[in-house]
Amino acid sequence: MPDFFPPNYVTARTRFLDAVRRHGWAIESHPISAKGPTGEELFIDVAARSATGNHTHTLVVSSGVHGVEASFGSAVQLALLDRWQATPPVQCVFIHAVNPWGFAHRRRFNEDNVDLNRNFLLPGEEYRGSPPGYAELIPLLNPKRSPGRFDPFHALAAWAVLRHGMPKLKQAVAAGQYDHPKGLFFGGRGPAESVHILGEHWDRWLGEAQDVVHLDYHTGLGDWGTHTLLIDLPLSTAQRDRLTNWFGERSFQGGDPSGTAYDARGGFGPWCHHRRNGREYLFACAEFGTYAPITVVGALRAENMAHHWGHPTDASTEGAKRRLAEKFCPASADWRARVLADGVGLAVGAAEGLKGSAPTAQPAGPDG
Ligand SMILES: [Zn+2]
Repeated sequence: MPDFFPPNYVTARTRFLDAVRRHGWAIESHPISAKGPTGEELFIDVAARSATGNHTHTLVVSSGVHGVEASFGSAVQLALLDRWQATPPVQCVFIHAVNPWGFAHRRRFNEDNVDLNRNFLLPGEEYRGSPPGYAELIPLLNPKRSPGRFDPFHALAAWAVLRHGMPKLKQAVAAGQYDHPKGLFFGGRGPAESVHILGEHWDRWLGEAQDVVHLDYHTGLGDWGTHTLLIDLPLSTAQRDRLTNWFGERSFQGGDPSGTAYDARGGFGPWCHHRRNGREYLFACAEFGTYAPITVVGALRAENMAHHWGHPTDASTEGAKRRLAEKFCPASADWRARVLADGVGLAVGAAEGLKGSAPTAQPAGPDG
């Protein structure tokens, strides 16, 4: 099996473009203003291919909303292109590197330190505020210094878990904040350039699609090598049945009709749902586990310190980035083989499921 995991953004993009051209998919590339580490241009690349005669059932696969997690999402997209070549089971739209700057610079966040998955606020929502408890955690999460040799973060974090409890702490840390531009999980002061680009072209990309399943690939949450579909919108019964039939009973979390289990603001999913424009739209964040939460947050914190308070050419900055990349895309061959097989399996399951189903938005008609 070829190695689909890219060593960096430039290689990932080259391989993606080569594959889509080789298999005859349509491709468009949207540059962002910010540049890569060696001054190279950065793009959100969008590839599409229709299944013969069917433009209504569409699978959307996106990677790299969190830049450093794109190595995995990009590998899944490349493996799917390799598998389906010119004839995917349904119409496909692949969005490669939603946050290309973060991918190229090995950061979760974008060129403005914005966590894109907290930046997709809906009309009427304000880019301000922080979850209760975030302010209290600032000295622990965002120290104003480069990461040093001695750093008792793990001990301090363990103490914070004891004091506040894990659920409350998780909510305070990861829900997204709009007040501290150099802090972790900053949602921005307005829509990011990536969000503008997506908004401008979204309807055209989806075209005649009436029944859309969207898998947005992420890593860094969950047990090593396992995966869960996280749903941050209430699910209809039909959607719940789909997930259960296609992926299994315990394959997804959230989607409670009463509200949302996942309390982050500004997520990509609700934004897609808001723009569904009459389409049936099922969005799932496909999360693949790597290391323990404290280890992952510790790596995010150290890289954030290095980014804001260290020097780009310092060995400690490079070390912090290398460790961050490992936390979100482990080098372990076992981990990679497992998540790639399962990541591809999810998309194949969704595509086959979509192919075999009538549009759920309408009652079955004469040709249903
Ligand atoms: Zn992510």
